[in-house]
Amino acid sequence: MDAEQLRKVWGKFCENNDFVLNPDKAHVDTIIEGVLINEKKFGLKLCPCRLRDGTREKDIELICPCNFKTHSTWLKPVEGRGGMCWCGLFVRK
Ligand code: SF4
Repeated sequence: MDAEQLRKVWGKFCENNDFVLNPDKAHVDTIIEGVLINEKKFGLKLCPCRLRDGTREKDIELICPCNFKTHSTWLKPVEGRGGMCWCGLFVRK
């Protein structure tokens, strides 16, 4: 999967949800690049913003998109900014 395909898949994931892809395209591009590098290295599309501990169990939790609605950045957004996943890839509508 290349960068544009991944962007499309994530765009589809946002449909009919209460979040969208971050409108900052450069930010999304950086995350896409990190995820694809992780896929090359580890065989999984892992979050580029969080550290893995090397166990398969933990890695699975870091597959993007993760369960980001449990993140403090989603639940308790900083004033002036809506909720978002830890990396700011998905942001509240
Ligand atoms: S924090 Fe965001 S970028 Fe990282 S895995 Fe979760 S959804 Fe993907």
